Amino acid sequence: MALVATRAFVGIGTNLGDRHANLAFALRSLRAARGVGQVTCSPVYETDPVGPPQPAYLNAAVSLVTTLEARELLRLLQAIELGAGRERGPERNAPRTLDLDLLLYGDARIDEPGLEVPHPRMHERAFVLVPLCDLAPDARHPVLGQTVRAMLEGVQGRDGVRPC
Ligand code: ADP
Ligand code: MG
Repeated sequence: MALVATRAFVGIGTNLGDRHANLAFALRSLRAARGVGQVTCSPVYETDPVGPPQPAYLNAAVSLVTTLEARELLRLLQAIELGAGRERGPERNAPRTLDLDLLLYGDARIDEPGLEVPHPRMHERAFVLVPLCDLAPDARHPVLGQTVRAMLEGVQGRDGVRPC
């Protein structure tokens, strides 16, 4: 466990089963987790799927403060995904009950097998940036140097992200 508390942002996606219940489960699980506090959720959006044809997603972003290391936080996110009944296949962008992506962990830059932070695709995904901008428009991408607001202005597909 790290000695200092770090602000982190997590992206949530769900497009199988009871999507609102899956979101609520994710929030409840994060709030109950050891080493995690100040859990705040953005508004929820319904978004057109990226990748193969599949049901529409609900997406949101979460801000939290944690004393967990980034790797421990990722393990927690994966345990919560499994708790929501997620089955992990080889395919990326496949439909899922719950997807929790670690977007930002303070201003850390991590590039290890199985853990990349900032999340390598966050800056090109409107369904990540729209809810993240509700929480932290001035947060800065530590590699690109851009704020969330600026990244959102440059991204395509914003019209596929609708408040719900
Ligand atoms: P995706 O979200 O890209 O559709 P998965 O959720 O199945 O796919 O994640 C695939 C892998 O991505 C996981 O095994 C995880 O180790 C890895 N990964 C690397 N960086 C991150 C990150 N920042 N957040 C979440 N998963 C990550
Ligand atoms: Mg994921």
